[in-house]
This record gives sequence, C-alpha cells and structure tokens, in this order.
Amino acid sequence: MLQKMATCAFCGREIEPGTGIMYVRNDGTILYFCSSKCFKNFRLGRDPRKYKWTMKYSVAK
Ligand SMILES: [Zn+2]
Repeated sequence: MLQKMATCAFCGREIEPGTGIMYVRNDGTILYFCSSKCFKNFRLGRDPRKYKWTMKYSVAK
C-alpha cells in the first residue's frame, strides 16, 4: 500500500511510513505522531509552540 508521508501532529516532523502512531479523535480526525513522546505530550494538552524540540516552536513572541 502506498502511503503518503505524514507529518507529526505535535512536533511537525515528517514520519517515515511504517513508523509512528496513528490516533483517531472522537470527531474522526486522524492524527499522526512520530513517537510516543509526541503522542504523550499531545494527550497532556501541551502546546508544541512552547517546546524547542518541535518544528512548531516559535522563536518570535
Ligand atoms: Zn513528533
């Protein structure tokens, strides 16, 4: 099956096909996470812009 390159819903990095976590929200939205670290942070309701290790980290405040 050809799979599109997905990006991590938390850190914004590209996820290699076959790796990472797929998470389906109650509203049917499918989210991909590159690692359990990102998934855990998402579940905790953390803002990726506040974490330097994510691609979404905003330098400007
Ligand atoms: Zn990630």
